[in-house]
Amino acid sequence: MADTKRDYYEVLGLEKGASEADIKKAYRQMAKKYHPDLNPGDKTAEEKFKEVGEAYEVLSDSEKRARYDQFGHAGVDPNYGAGGAGGYNVDFGDLGDLFSSFFGGGFGGGGHANPNAPRRGSDLSKSVTLSFEEAAKGCTKNVEYNRIETCNQCGGTGAQPGTSPKTCTECSGTGYVRVNQRTPFGVIQSQHSCTTCQGTGKIVEHKCTKCSGMGKVRVKTTRPVEFPAGVDEGQKVRVSGAGNQGSNGGSSGDLYVNVDIRPHHIFERQGYDVHMEQPITYGQAVFGAEIEIPTLDGNVKIKVPAGTQPGDINRMQGKGIQRLNSRSKGDQYVHFTVIVPKNVTAEQRDLIMQLEESMGTDVSKINKKKKFF
Ligand SMILES: [Zn+2]
Ligand SMILES: [Zn+2]
Repeated sequence: MADTKRDYYEVLGLEKGASEADIKKAYRQMAKKYHPDLNPGDKTAEEKFKEVGEAYEVLSDSEKRARYDQFGHAGVDPNYGAGGAGGYNVDFGDLGDLFSSFFGGGFGGGGHANPNAPRRGSDLSKSVTLSFEEAAKGCTKNVEYNRIETCNQCGGTGAQPGTSPKTCTECSGTGYVRVNQRTPFGVIQSQHSCTTCQGTGKIVEHKCTKCSGMGKVRVKTTRPVEFPAGVDEGQKVRVSGAGNQGSNGGSSGDLYVNVDIRPHHIFERQGYDVHMEQPITYGQAVFGAEIEIPTLDGNVKIKVPAGTQPGDINRMQGKGIQRLNSRSKGDQYVHFTVIVPKNVTAEQRDLIMQLEESMGTDVSKINKKKKFF
């Protein structure tokens, strides 16, 4: 039931004002804890893993997070609460930029551009979250966004088909009016944007029903965007001409896609290098061993040298992330930690004590009250 959906901050164990870094950190910990690979067959963990992913998806995206903070689940999920009397589906897109794109530029004080001159459409930006692997290997994603396009019913004139806009009589179609002002220094003439036609030079009497006379409509667009291998958090991919359409035959703006990367439950990225922690047992550390570890290209066998200490690092050259615009790759660093068992059986306890004794430890000083199970 949608109504029982938990608060996303609560899901990640955070307060409402949590920083981006806190959100990322909490997600990493939770995703690791509930990851299906680490909890095979555990349905509750699987549910939690999904819930955590969904919470991160929203809270890591500044746009979505702002909507969530303001409107709750309904702000990010149009279906939330739908079906009931209060169900609604609102486009939260900023209508403001529809107006500013149409009326923007050439107005206000300064130079008065010809209202009918071609004008380039404004640029758009959109955030997309990639998985760790998608960013490392490159991918193509369908990016959905709202774009302002010329209305196809009126062809951008704003007039209902069969009618046509009239030239504004106030400004004779120039889009501006001259005003004479008497001052102590004489008469000064200034120009102002025409308020009757709002600077367009035209009056639409019969407004197009599709765009309400704006000549522009906001259209939901989906476009495949290619992300190159090695793309990193905070970088932007520019899609030329995918922004808002221009006016009067002007070119379209560009779309800038901001890259966000979902943290991985094992790997941590530093530039083009990949770091990971690998727990090994005491015996593996002392005698050395061959173990299998994950890399971006699948599991690989590595040798743990005898006498490995906690914190020792194995550098795997060329097992990191593909560099942008290059064929070379970063490295993978495996940081070894040594597993210290939290619970031991009575037999294991005796064995450890025997070992300690033979290593010269004063075993009489070792706690004896350890719980057994
Ligand atoms: Zn129209
Ligand atoms: Zn006018």
